[in-house]
Amino acid sequence: MSFASDVKNEICRAELEDICCVRAELAGIICFSAQITDRLIKINTENARVAERISELGVHLYKLGVEIEARESGIYSVKISGADVLKILRDMRLATVPIRIDKEISRRECCKRSFVRGAFLGGGSICAPQKGYHMEFVTSHYALCRDFSSVLEYFGITPKIAERKSNYVFYIKDSEQISDLLAVVGAHNKMMEFLNIKIEKEIRNETNRRVNCENANSEKCAGAAVAQTHAILLIKQKLGLENLPPRLESIARVRLELPEATLTDLARELGITKSGANHRMRRLIKIANEIK
Ligand SMILES: [Zn+2]
Repeated sequence: MSFASDVKNEICRAELEDICCVRAELAGIICFSAQITDRLIKINTENARVAERISELGVHLYKLGVEIEARESGIYSVKISGADVLKILRDMRLATVPIRIDKEISRRECCKRSFVRGAFLGGGSICAPQKGYHMEFVTSHYALCRDFSSVLEYFGITPKIAERKSNYVFYIKDSEQISDLLAVVGAHNKMMEFLNIKIEKEIRNETNRRVNCENANSEKCAGAAVAQTHAILLIKQKLGLENLPPRLESIARVRLELPEATLTDLARELGITKSGANHRMRRLIKIANEIK
């Protein structure tokens, strides 16, 4: 089962609430996925549970006779025909073109939520969060775009819109907005799973970042230690360590004894502060540069 179909299955388990919301949910499904003529409303879906949900909504609202046909391709075709078609279209104030969201639906929060739920069942999909953050709604109806944008905006969700072939795609890449949207459609279990995976990923990224950072630091340390040793060897050869001031001589000897030690280790060895060690080392490097 894909993450998207799990989300749809969870949404389909929601109780049928107020009649206004049942109507809004069915409208969402029809707007986003139905082929409509005056005699037939046909909805194709890959999800058996969505097909059943459409039937439940139709029976609950209009005592409809809904026909579900399972095809060999794994697609379920849901058909409403005859006099029921006009009854539904009239009730939802849906024309065959253009498809718009009924003002009655955009008036109440409960109905807006249910419409988005239906829109997701009809034309929505979501990537598994392990693979990346992407959620989208696809529709071929241009007029629907603006209406749907304002419904999503109401919930603080601001999708981008792209044209793909002859369709309009609302897509969301922001992980916070995706989890908000999962909450809007009532997929709370899937939202929790989404958030858990997101947190795991963030912890893993942070750990990798730290490890990389530590490696980079230790390389920097190693580079510095090598440069210091070179400088000291040069001084030893040209000047003799014994001719250095005692403070510089002592750190030079310790560095040669402990070529891999960090500056902090050298400071501890000499019983001085790290900044003291750093200061002495800089003086040694300066002397070496002057010799060169
Ligand atoms: Zn409602």
